[in-house]
Amino acid sequence: MYDYDVIIAGGGIAGLELGAMLSHDGQRVLMIEQAGHVGGRSFVHTKDGFELDNGIHLVRFGRKSALAQVLRHIGKEIQFQPLGKSYLIDRNNEFILFPTGPSGFLTSGLFRFPERLKALGIMLQFKRGQTGALERYTVEEWMQGAGIRGGLKRYFNLVCASMLVCPLTSVASAQALAENVNRVLKAGISVEYPSHGWRKDILDPLEDALRKNGKIMTGTRVESVAIEGNRAAGVRVNGTVLRADTIIVDIPSQDIGKILDVRGIRDERLKTALGLVPTSGISIDYAIDGSISDISGLLYLEDPVSFGCIVSNLSPGIAPPGKSLLTWFCPVHNEEMKQKDKASAYQRRLESRIETIFPSLKTKTLFKRVLNLNMVDGVELNIGQLRDKRMDYGIQGIDNLYLIGDTTAAPGAGGDIAHESSIECYERITGRMHSAGNV
Ligand SMILES: Cc1cc2nc3c(=O)[nH]c(=O)nc-3n(C[C@H](O)[C@H](O)[C@H](O)COP(=O)(O)OP(=O)(O)OC[C@H]3O[C@@H](n4cnc5c(N)ncnc54)[C@H](O)[C@@H]3O)c2cc1C
Repeated sequence: MYDYDVIIAGGGIAGLELGAMLSHDGQRVLMIEQAGHVGGRSFVHTKDGFELDNGIHLVRFGRKSALAQVLRHIGKEIQFQPLGKSYLIDRNNEFILFPTGPSGFLTSGLFRFPERLKALGIMLQFKRGQTGALERYTVEEWMQGAGIRGGLKRYFNLVCASMLVCPLTSVASAQALAENVNRVLKAGISVEYPSHGWRKDILDPLEDALRKNGKIMTGTRVESVAIEGNRAAGVRVNGTVLRADTIIVDIPSQDIGKILDVRGIRDERLKTALGLVPTSGISIDYAIDGSISDISGLLYLEDPVSFGCIVSNLSPGIAPPGKSLLTWFCPVHNEEMKQKDKASAYQRRLESRIETIFPSLKTKTLFKRVLNLNMVDGVELNIGQLRDKRMDYGIQGIDNLYLIGDTTAAPGAGGDIAHESSIECYERITGRMHSAGNV
């Protein structure tokens, strides 16, 4: 008998979720994370009393999300805060209501009358799943074919940027857009935010649940997965193989080659998985002395395409009393992000726009944090990287090795893929269906 039933390589949110559920069930779990802390891309950094998420971290479908379902599994029911009204800020700094539900199409000043009707018709088609075969089309091609122009085109450009984290409609998949809108319409919730922030409501409870029957080793790199015959026998750490019955890998699939000798593996999807293009972008936080606005929805810009949120208006506890936190995110295509001069140009334009909209930031900003991120979501939802092209929680020919995280074939986009993957993998490992409750 080994010291652990399950070893998880990588301590991102997907690993924490699956590890917490298995440990809660009584399995002995060991999580091994190379960084000095767990959380991965969902980590929360604390500075001067501000809790800074790793960029805007809204939970798709909120209380109806796979994440909420995982928390329920470990006996934690948390409150989610719905967003307030969202706005598009145009080039004259006018705030135009941005629809977040069907009624918004009737009231927003973004649309002319025929566009309102067209928008409602499209939403109805999306809700019924009557979108035809969209797998081969980009969002741009779909919009052209469907005669989408004017305000409606501006609307879908921004939905593509925020929902799919892709600034280029000529790259993003129309199928992915339709599927994700369909899920929002079915859930009746687009995004929500944990009322007490990610640290208190999500990361701490998951860590506590994992530690119930398990252990977390941080600052420790998994050097390789040890394969014996057709089984994953364990993981190599500091030259020693730690063994367990089940090995789970929560490492973006682009990096799997670093811990697994992939040369002899025939699984066709693995080739695609190793070369997946992630989404990228620039995140800017403004820690503010006082308040700049009471808006608690998203604020969208078209130049550069980006969106922001005064996160402390959703969860006041993440900023010290009397202070607030504004976080803005600008999706930049991965190719452009690799070019330093282009990324810096986006950053300068973004800062200049934000500081024009909120001039008081010049005097009220206590500190600013800029993150240039090569990987935001593990996978860009373009037409070559849809679910059928991604890894299906395992590798053909290797038993008891499971893959999770936001580069797997789970449904959704971004963090939602990570959360869904933890549930789908839980079902594979335990053979038990997870109770329904998410979308
Ligand atoms: C700026 C930004 C904003 C975002 N906003 C949202 C949002 O609003 N909504 C949403 O749903 N999603 C959002 N996301 C995406 C979300 O954060 C990710 O989808 C999610 O955190 C991915 O989790 P994961 O567990 O799949 O992978 P990761 O977080 O990448 O975890 C992998 C872990 O493995 C560790 N690791 C790697 N190699 C090794 C090794 N050899 N040994 C040990 N450990 C190793 C890494 O250090 C890391 O901790 C955002 C991401 C960013 C960056």
